[in-house]
Amino acid sequence: MHTVRIPKVINFGKDALSSTEYPRNALVVTTVPPELSDKWLGRMGIKDYMLYDRVKPEPSIDDVNSVISEFKDKDPSVLIGLGGGSSMDVVKYAAPEMKKEKILIPTTFGTGAEMTTYCVLKFDGKKKLLREDRFLADMAVVDSYFLDGTPEQVVKNSVCDACAQATEGYDSKLGNDLTRTLCRQAFDILYDAIMEGRPDQYPYGSMLSGMGFGNCSTTLGHALSYVFSNEGVPHGYSLSSCTTVAHRHNKSQFYDRFKEAMEKLGFDRLDLKADVSEAADVVMTDRGHLDPNPIPVSKEDVVGCLEAIKAGDL
Ligand SMILES: [Zn+2]
Repeated sequence: MHTVRIPKVINFGKDALSSTEYPRNALVVTTVPPELSDKWLGRMGIKDYMLYDRVKPEPSIDDVNSVISEFKDKDPSVLIGLGGGSSMDVVKYAAPEMKKEKILIPTTFGTGAEMTTYCVLKFDGKKKLLREDRFLADMAVVDSYFLDGTPEQVVKNSVCDACAQATEGYDSKLGNDLTRTLCRQAFDILYDAIMEGRPDQYPYGSMLSGMGFGNCSTTLGHALSYVFSNEGVPHGYSLSSCTTVAHRHNKSQFYDRFKEAMEKLGFDRLDLKADVSEAADVVMTDRGHLDPNPIPVSKEDVVGCLEAIKAGDL
């Protein structure tokens, strides 16, 4: 048997944000200042809401606890996570603790976090990746409206992440017919959107990617990417090279088209400051990404991949 979990209701496409009906007395959780949240809330047409806009980037369990202690007695009808990953992660954790439903509205795209059971929070200063069914949204609202005003570099990195997640997810050993259907469709849409210069399609492709990989996993490309993240390289940017060499190593059917899409987007060569052998040791401990890789990966393979990335031999 296979199980696939996605939000109960998904509103997406043109005007999804303004056409969705939001219950009164909702608690909106966001990271952004009032100048921006006012604009978004106006567009949503939401009435009689409460607002918590003090979520910090890379939030911790303390952010969750302050939302709960401040609003538990005010009995909100529902929690709405409006923003990037940080706002959504806080709501993913806080809503079930408060026994409330949650609506997730991503204002950035790429991770597909609004579709998944993943939640990233800091505990005692350390980032932890949690995965529990209760973190799933009751409703997700996906609208390309938010693309307007997003810096081009951020858009590029985000669509790269979505492409990497879709294609690595397709190849994951934890996948099934349905996740592969979602991942393939996600990549087809993203690839066409990139090649034809139609970024308005990115949020939809990214959403499908989240539905797909969120029910299986990513693989070698993501495992390689974290040694670059540790040196401050943005996640999506590191995947432009890491997932390309991973697809070559895996003889993935997506290698050519993935590489072509990355070339179209245009990324600089990646540098790694750490010693390659030591970095490979770090990668090898990432069993969560390496075990579901379609073929086994040795330390020598990882060294080869990292050398190729550094040399720009993709
Ligand atoms: Zn990713």
